[in-house]
Amino acid sequence: MAFPNTYSIGITSLGFQIIWATLAQRRDVDVRRLFTDQQDKLHRTIDLFGFSLSWELDGPVLVNLLENNKIPIWSKERTEKDPIVFGGGQVLTANPEPFAPFLDVILLGDGENLLPIFIETLHELQGLSRNKKLTILSKHPGIYVPILYEPQYNSNNKLIAIQSISSEIPQQVTKQTWKQNTLSHSTVITPESAWPGIHMVEVVRSCPELCRFCLASYLNLPFRNSDLDTGLIPAIEKGFAITKRIGLLGASITQHPDFDELLNWLSQDGFEDMRLSLSSVRATTVNKKMTNILARRNCKSITIAIESGSEKIRDLVNKKLTEEEIYSAARYAHEGGLTRLKLYGMVGLPTEAEEDIELTTDLLIKLKRKNPGLKFSFGVSTFVPKAHTPFQWFGVRNEAKKRLQKIGKKLKPQGIEVRAESYGWSIIQALISRSDRRLAPVIELIRKSDNTLGGWKKAYKAIQEKNKLSSLNSQLPDWEDIVHQQWEYNRVLPWMHLNGPVKVEQLIKHQQMS
Ligand code: SF4
Repeated sequence: MAFPNTYSIGITSLGFQIIWATLAQRRDVDVRRLFTDQQDKLHRTIDLFGFSLSWELDGPVLVNLLENNKIPIWSKERTEKDPIVFGGGQVLTANPEPFAPFLDVILLGDGENLLPIFIETLHELQGLSRNKKLTILSKHPGIYVPILYEPQYNSNNKLIAIQSISSEIPQQVTKQTWKQNTLSHSTVITPESAWPGIHMVEVVRSCPELCRFCLASYLNLPFRNSDLDTGLIPAIEKGFAITKRIGLLGASITQHPDFDELLNWLSQDGFEDMRLSLSSVRATTVNKKMTNILARRNCKSITIAIESGSEKIRDLVNKKLTEEEIYSAARYAHEGGLTRLKLYGMVGLPTEAEEDIELTTDLLIKLKRKNPGLKFSFGVSTFVPKAHTPFQWFGVRNEAKKRLQKIGKKLKPQGIEVRAESYGWSIIQALISRSDRRLAPVIELIRKSDNTLGGWKKAYKAIQEKNKLSSLNSQLPDWEDIVHQQWEYNRVLPWMHLNGPVKVEQLIKHQQMS
């Protein structure tokens, strides 16, 4: 089971930990872990080679790991002696197509549901040929076998259909959802993790707010929470017996229906030396009681995503957050005893103008002035369209690059720490996020070059030239179109054969409400 990054990053992924633990608990599986910088001792023969991909830019590493383990990198070149290569995780569930030619099987959805079915089916199929196994696997809901689907393109290089290659293969594959009332928690606590010694507890999955760009919300619907008494409290107790550092995770944890009760429980005697940290919280749920309990549990900061200082932009993305609520959240953070407020925002959202950027910087400056003593940091990224969200049809805006710089220039002299995500990375993310499987040769080439925007552009051009010379007449998806253009609603999407939680018609309606 591989993670295409270092041990420190991989072991901090709760998704990877769940998959590994689910496999490790089975008596019929002997699972070994593989990272880019360390690995368990591998078997001489491997039946299955799995990946968890949660960040687009780790994609090329996936190909390296296959090659390093002497597995043919292309699914179509694997033979009976090669393992079945499978993958899962947010990136592959949203739009697996750019990686489809490298993978035999993609598990679309929650690992808790899919892994047991996948493993048990493979046991039943022992002795059958590889092709037969893949064909039978493809009939299980949520198990996508890319080689059994064929895309068609028109003379203008546009994708016009993706169909299964025979009537016995399902035409559509539907993402599967874990519906039990316990979610996951760490199975490994290590000082080598990116958050050393942390025990992570998943509080909620998805988010009911439905911000129109948000993959964490839309792709993981419906919103689910871990039961307080049978899920959360036992998971925290288990971790606290081993480590003082507890992390509560989820897209919107303070919206857990019993979050207030959880806080009461955490405020009891006995947890004084707990070091609690929370993933991003909704500004409207922040109050003095919460920040006070967090501060008493040695939490220094909270993180709030405001997206923009402009009400117009917040409305556009369905943020449902007033300026007054942002001011109140900052005040409560300060009054409760926290020392830092981390805010998150985005630039390059549709219709955003220069004045919206001014409103964002003005808001940050005013927040800082009103709360002396509270440290502020602003993490800002470029809007990137994600599959299965209402904003999947919008492109990345060129203006974003300058706007990121402008925010840094305005806020840094005011003593606000600005952490701007690289514009170049956002372009690569968008390329991967909306491409089809014709991008795979570029991914294959980039791993030998530098994983930067310049490196990607070079690799893209090299494959374009190669394609021109080849008699196959295959073309790459158009870079400008994939990354920057606004797409028509009736366009055939590369993930059209993969059903997410929300139908396209609904996504269009959600977008049009903006
Ligand atoms: S509140 Fe945060 S997690 Fe929830 S939908 Fe909006 S951006 Fe996503």
